[in-house]
Amino acid sequence: MSGKPVLEMAQAQLVEAARYLDLDPGLSEVLSKPKRQLIVNFPVVMDNGEVQCFEGYRVQHNTSRGPTKGGIRYHPDVDVDETTALSMWMTWKCAVVDIPYGGAKGSVKVDTKKLSMRELEKLTRRFATEINIVIGERSDIPAPDIGTNGQVMAWIMDTLSMQTGYTVPGVITGKPITLGGSQGRIEATGRGCIVAALEACKERGLTDLKDKKVVVQGFGNVGSVAAYLAEEAGAKVIAVSDARSAIYNENGLPIRELYQKYSGRDGGIAEYKDCTPITNADLLTLKCDVLIPAAIQQQITIDNADKIQAGIVVEGANGPTTREADQILSDKGILVVPDILANAGGVVVSYFEWVQDLQNFFWEEVEVNVKLERIMKHAYEGVRVTRESHKCDMRTAAMIIGVKRVAEATVSRGIFP
Ligand code: NAD
Repeated sequence: MSGKPVLEMAQAQLVEAARYLDLDPGLSEVLSKPKRQLIVNFPVVMDNGEVQCFEGYRVQHNTSRGPTKGGIRYHPDVDVDETTALSMWMTWKCAVVDIPYGGAKGSVKVDTKKLSMRELEKLTRRFATEINIVIGERSDIPAPDIGTNGQVMAWIMDTLSMQTGYTVPGVITGKPITLGGSQGRIEATGRGCIVAALEACKERGLTDLKDKKVVVQGFGNVGSVAAYLAEEAGAKVIAVSDARSAIYNENGLPIRELYQKYSGRDGGIAEYKDCTPITNADLLTLKCDVLIPAAIQQQITIDNADKIQAGIVVEGANGPTTREADQILSDKGILVVPDILANAGGVVVSYFEWVQDLQNFFWEEVEVNVKLERIMKHAYEGVRVTRESHKCDMRTAAMIIGVKRVAEATVSRGIFP
């Protein structure tokens, strides 16, 4: 699968925002391109003694507002175009929630299910070494994304520290707590999605999530946390899915149990019995109050958008809705809380983690969560007000805010030399 359509989608979103802002064409062109793209090919000696070559990327989109920030994805379908699109979205996302970063993204084309733990560690340490020429605690700070987790972040931190000669915790976020990770980081993206969902519910006159029907696509870091926090807020989570299966129970699924007992197993959530198996395609079109796509990009498309029955869509994943689908959802009156706002909780707490690492002074979880909620609510309100003043949808409003802040920083700095 080529990442070209994803990049075209990200660029078209920028063109739309630039039109509202009447942006100078030269500035628009600068913002439409990545500042730096690094492509690396590197060998790993596999457990059977054979050498396998892997391709990886680190793309830095914009540094006007600060060092770049963005996750590292391990997935067989990644390419430089998809990674570039994801880096652009990171730039706007950091600006929407007003944290002092530009956007970046990294990825390795690999199916981690085919690797042993030892091979995963060797691949990670070698990839970290290959991209070490562009990342650093003051320049570009990676974090987890699809296929990577706290353990992978720990190996990267250790590798870069070994090469520096002393421990550098601030070079990466999403680390285990014992290595300078932040309280609340694992839950942060899902938590931010639920803060956004609650704000959207209020707008739609639903007051809160109590007894509301919620559907979640993807049961990884973002989806599982969003699902259990929705359950905690009183919602009935009637369907969830992972890459292999989707399950449904109209009375609500026991999310904590699913998370603790089934999410890490080979059979995944399909092993849970008190439910009806459905397909991922069926899941997206279930009648519900809130749909949270939290898996991968381009899931709500021209082919299924008119069948979506949710009142509110909260984009946990990056780029789950195509441009054509956006228009259809908008015409149907569905409120879409866009990715660059809805899933910004992860990068907000990554920012907190980085600040704590640089200061060697660590915060309690309650402090992290309170600060996260405040930032998310403030950003949501800013987007809502912009949407009303420009009479546009939430995505365009979020893009207007993000692009405007980055454009202003770029103009204020001027062009070197
Ligand atoms: P993850 O690897 O922990 O989980 C991904 C989940 O999606 C898994 O359950 C997987 O089985 C499922 N999945 C994969 N392909 C699927 C498909 N075709 N249909 C249905 N399910 C599928 O990844 P994550 O960190 O939870 O990231 C999920 C999404 O959220 C990605 O788009 C990512 O870029 C975005 N995101 C993540 C974070 C973060 O902090 N982890 C922050 C912001 C955005």
